[in-house]
Amino acid sequence: MKIEEKDYEAFHVSVNPVGVMTVAIDVPQRPMNVFTHVVMDELDSIVSEVESRSDLRLVVFRSEKESGFLAGADVRDVADIRSPSQAGRLIDAGQQLFHRIDHLKTPTLVVIHGPCMGGGLEWALACDYRIARDNSSTKIGLPEIKLGVIPAWGGTQRLPRQVGLVQSLGMILQGKAVSAHQAGKIGLIDRALSPDDWEHGVDRFIDDVLQGRVRTKLPLRKRVARLLEFSKPGRMWILRSARAKIRDKAEQYPALPAAIHAIETGLQKQGAGYVTERSEFVKLLATPTCRNLLNLFFARESARNIKTWATQTDRADIHFHEIRRVGVVGAGAMGAGIGQFAATRGYDVAFREVDESAAQQGRTRVEKLMSSFADRNRLDSDQRRELNNRIVMSTDDDAIVLCDLVVEAAVERVDVKQQIFARLDRLVATDCILATNTSSLSVDAIATATDSPERVAGLHFFNPVHRMELVEVVRGERTNDDTITRLVAFVRSLGKTPIVTKDAPGFLVNRILFPYLGEAILMSREGYPATEIDRELRQFGMPMGPLELVDQVGVDVAKHVAMSLGGVITGLDASVDELTEMVQRGDLGKKSGSGFYQYRDGKAEPADARSHSQAVASQPGDGFSDDGLTAIQRRLVYPMLREAVLCKEQEIVREDWMVDLGMVLATGFAPHRGGPLRVIDGVGARVVHENLKRLQVAFGKRFAPPHTIAAMAETDQRFYVRECTEADASKQAVRPDESSSPRSPR
Ligand code: NAD
Repeated sequence: MKIEEKDYEAFHVSVNPVGVMTVAIDVPQRPMNVFTHVVMDELDSIVSEVESRSDLRLVVFRSEKESGFLAGADVRDVADIRSPSQAGRLIDAGQQLFHRIDHLKTPTLVVIHGPCMGGGLEWALACDYRIARDNSSTKIGLPEIKLGVIPAWGGTQRLPRQVGLVQSLGMILQGKAVSAHQAGKIGLIDRALSPDDWEHGVDRFIDDVLQGRVRTKLPLRKRVARLLEFSKPGRMWILRSARAKIRDKAEQYPALPAAIHAIETGLQKQGAGYVTERSEFVKLLATPTCRNLLNLFFARESARNIKTWATQTDRADIHFHEIRRVGVVGAGAMGAGIGQFAATRGYDVAFREVDESAAQQGRTRVEKLMSSFADRNRLDSDQRRELNNRIVMSTDDDAIVLCDLVVEAAVERVDVKQQIFARLDRLVATDCILATNTSSLSVDAIATATDSPERVAGLHFFNPVHRMELVEVVRGERTNDDTITRLVAFVRSLGKTPIVTKDAPGFLVNRILFPYLGEAILMSREGYPATEIDRELRQFGMPMGPLELVDQVGVDVAKHVAMSLGGVITGLDASVDELTEMVQRGDLGKKSGSGFYQYRDGKAEPADARSHSQAVASQPGDGFSDDGLTAIQRRLVYPMLREAVLCKEQEIVREDWMVDLGMVLATGFAPHRGGPLRVIDGVGARVVHENLKRLQVAFGKRFAPPHTIAAMAETDQRFYVRECTEADASKQAVRPDESSSPRSPR
């Protein structure tokens, strides 16, 4: 018997002499496989062929791309859905296809490496066996919730059956992926295979299946746990506690209760859950939360595209001097984080510290970060050694000389930074980039210390480096394109998201954040309890309240940044005074045990209980136009909206979406609201304008409406092109070029 082969656009199918059909997916012109209409149609034909044959003993689905198995549905296709019926059709197509795979007489196996996400996992769950390569690139999960929808190609139905209710609720509600190792432990896959013996391991597993040697049996402990889940009271208890956990977020993120509803329906009545899954998906797709999250997804993609930032279009396919070695001056909190993170992404890193004692402290910081990274990623001792070998810590310049990029993260003093830059300028090769991590000093002022300001820029990481995704790339007056493009590429290679900003105090993020923090500090001074301020802002959708944030950042650090912003932000002086008094009292926030809160064993308790009634009396009451906010929220959110508009007016960044993305990624600005400029669009410029005027009367000119808002209010304009919602869809046809956001960069 000879091998049969057949090629499709996105698949290569072959059948070997013992009856094993391999279906290898390789979606053309995509770095990563995704479900497109073509993929669905072709997979449909392949399944039909399998259904029609009786000579096959096993069907093996795998990917021909090294990048991974499958990243999910094409998000662009999902975002482009224009009507409930179109959404319904998309869901039907996937559900039916996977139902047929689930019911094939021939056994099916999915071989996973790299991402197996969303629709990729739903496909895998419809198969009989799953195996995965056990290394750090393998990630298996259902991330739909992060886009404001739920998995609706059977994910909410098959995952609970495969891994149990508790595990599946965790995976679906948080959208978190698991590694191959974890997937093996929870029974999501049948075997996690060592990457060293990968192809042999796959062959052995196939052989085991053919010989009937694979049995999927859960360990006893898991079986006992499942018994609880299979009893009706047990299930009800688990679902009730899941509902309690999401209660506070259910309104803002309607996909959370929808997912629980779909799971519950499926458990109550076999088959009914698919109908629920479908109808919930269709409803969710039209919600503002989903549209905002989708827009943020695309904004992030645009920010990571070098073409977005390359100012000369002919430089789009850039060939530039690659960065391989990174120097870091100062191994303090930020420097250690930056260097350690770069090393984990494959860079050689040379630290420079002032003296041996500082170097030793730096080493300890880097080692601590490195060992928690290694633990998280289950690295073996060779891998750990290899990582540590990428780092040199020294008190001289020998290693720095060879770097392609030096990031300065020394103390926040312009004279110190100027000295460092003057020295570096003479020391390193002419094509080495010199970047500063300053949060409050002028990049231009630092660049004047060099003879080559064109290669000087800001590279503003946020704290803690390994967790914060945004990096502001700051273009000084004389920074050249090459420097910016190379820095953007560097940030992207770290897996982080760059936003290029102008060199102006606070850049983008601190500039918009501080009017908000300042107002919260004033309110606290007026007698509003910190707990109440923070609770209301968490309800707005911030990950923590403004005063909790100041305590976390450090009252002294906040004071320092606030002082640097005095020249550009109106009305910060009073809050700087308050912060100065706190610093003098030693109330530095969490690190000193007291700030706006008292900390006992790391836990916050209100620092004082000033009378609230007095504060409420001074709060202007009615008369505001309806914007869906409470009085406290309005007084704190409007300063951010206002400053965001001023940043646009002063071209701190080029595009509206850059403002929104930057604020969501760096401060956690309520993602379901899409960012400050989206909030203005949602409320309407006219209402924002009226309310700002009222706030100005009550609190002064720090609330004066920017002229852009006044102009927009007059002509009823928006920042973003209006999107088609479910209601609009039935009324009007939309031209495709009107619908997408972010707009392409100018
Ligand atoms: P840090 O005090 O923890 O660390 C500074 C380190 O620089 C110290 O280890 C010090 O020994 C070293 N240093 C000082 N002068 C030096 C010199 N001439 N050569 C080499 N090393 C020198 O400070 P940090 O919090 O890590 O901040 C560093 C920079 O990052 C500052 O510019 C700060 O504004 C900025 N930044 C800080 C944060 C934050 O949250 N901490 C966030 C973003 C940016």
